[in-house]
Amino acid sequence: MFKSIFSRLVAMFIAIIIFSFSISGITLYYSFGKYVSEEKIRTLDASGEEISKYLKFYLENMQNPVAEVMLDYVLNSYRQNTGSYIWITNDKGVIVFASPYLKLTDSKILNHLKYEQGTYILPDERQYKKVLSGTNPVIEKGDFYGLFKETGWSWLVVQKPFKYVDTAGAEHVVAAVYLSTPITEINKARSTVYRFFLISVVVSVLISTFLVYFFSRRITNPLKQISNAAKIISGGEFNKRLNINSRDEIGELAGSFNQMAVALENLEEMRRGFIANVSHELRTPMTSIKGFIEGILDGTIPMEKQKDYLNIVRDEVMRLNRLVNDLLDLAKMESGEIHLMFSNFNINELIRRCIIKLEHLITEKELEVTVNFDEETFVSADLDAIERVLINLIHNAVKFTPNKGIIGINTIIDADRLIISVADTGIGIDKEELNMIWDRFYKTDKSRSRDKLGTGLGLAIVKNIINEHGQEIWVESEPGKGTTFHFTLKRADESLI
Ligand code: ATP
Ligand code: MG
Repeated sequence: MFKSIFSRLVAMFIAIIIFSFSISGITLYYSFGKYVSEEKIRTLDASGEEISKYLKFYLENMQNPVAEVMLDYVLNSYRQNTGSYIWITNDKGVIVFASPYLKLTDSKILNHLKYEQGTYILPDERQYKKVLSGTNPVIEKGDFYGLFKETGWSWLVVQKPFKYVDTAGAEHVVAAVYLSTPITEINKARSTVYRFFLISVVVSVLISTFLVYFFSRRITNPLKQISNAAKIISGGEFNKRLNINSRDEIGELAGSFNQMAVALENLEEMRRGFIANVSHELRTPMTSIKGFIEGILDGTIPMEKQKDYLNIVRDEVMRLNRLVNDLLDLAKMESGEIHLMFSNFNINELIRRCIIKLEHLITEKELEVTVNFDEETFVSADLDAIERVLINLIHNAVKFTPNKGIIGINTIIDADRLIISVADTGIGIDKEELNMIWDRFYKTDKSRSRDKLGTGLGLAIVKNIINEHGQEIWVESEPGKGTTFHFTLKRADESLI
């Protein structure tokens, strides 16, 4: 039923609101009821106290007819103020004063009073024994030993003993004041308050439901947007971005989502570019191979030239082979499939070997090679991988340096590292292109005419290898003057001693 976060939030908030209102309602009901009845007892008790004073005044001035009128008046006004029946009884339970007059009292009560010789008497001894013993005040709740049974309500009866001090100074309880009020009076007050409470509950539940609805929408709307955007991106539309600017966790999530979308878009662009490059690099040699072989087969290429063309075909096949191998190696490096085999070796020795390997190309171009080694230095690295780095860098230097140019190879110790530099006096690289030479298949415009065989993968592999070693590689170049590549390697511990 509550599947979405939105409906769960709304349901949860409303449940919390209703629950807290119920708790405060119940607390209010009981504490208010208690407060009202305590308050009522206090009022009746205080009224009883006052009535006693007038009773005393009356008893002391019995011969004065005004005294009785006054007592009657006082009883009447207290009755009205407190909403109760007020009776004064003597020490036998005989009701001597009553307000309202007993004749006007509800017959349901009157029926339960004892009537003897023109006076009404409390029928049960328990109704006056306690108060006459001096307890002040006596409080009874209920039907007052059957007296109020017929009214159907529960009553609160507050009884006050009236003490008279005789001439000898002794105190006697000679009368008692009864103030009786139906508890419905208390309930009436309670229900009035309760009505206001319920109205405020309904109003606040309505307002909070409204607020909760909007608040929950504000939380769940961005989540929906994120989910929709994710669907769109998974469908291949990588340029979708979110426009959520809140500064909370959802805003953070949206920010990360956008970053992810940018990364995915770049990756997709790279993938497309890569496929385009690979197919281009493969197609060109394959077309020429196909053309030459067809020419040989259909006789367009004469017998005596066939060998030359077959040589070109072999070169192209070798280039294709190298391209595929380089691509596979790069893919393996990037997926972390190739693990470096670290060993300690003399780097100067390796550099010498690499120069010898490329000797035929160097002499072909009449290049001068100068080496400047710091001292015989051992490094800790993967020998084959570093050989590949050196071959590619020296080969590039050879390729992009005109005849009779100079290639300089230096090693310099830098604390626990060794910096190896391969410099040439070649065509150089434009400033704008310096960052791009590390990309796969990237070849500068200037170099294209000089080197048709290169695939542009060499430096990508070189950078990968150096990165895998946790070392650095960088380049400096001045167009028309020359280029220098520098890379670092960790010195082997034995060289450090
Ligand atoms: P591959 O190494 O795969 O045979 P490549 O040599 O063309 O092909 P990289 O070694 O990756 O590819 O070099 C990328 C490009 O950087 C070169 O094509 C060239 O334009 C430029 N470059 C590299 N080294 C030099 C250099 N020493 N002088 C001038 N340009 C260079
Ligand atoms: Mg190269």
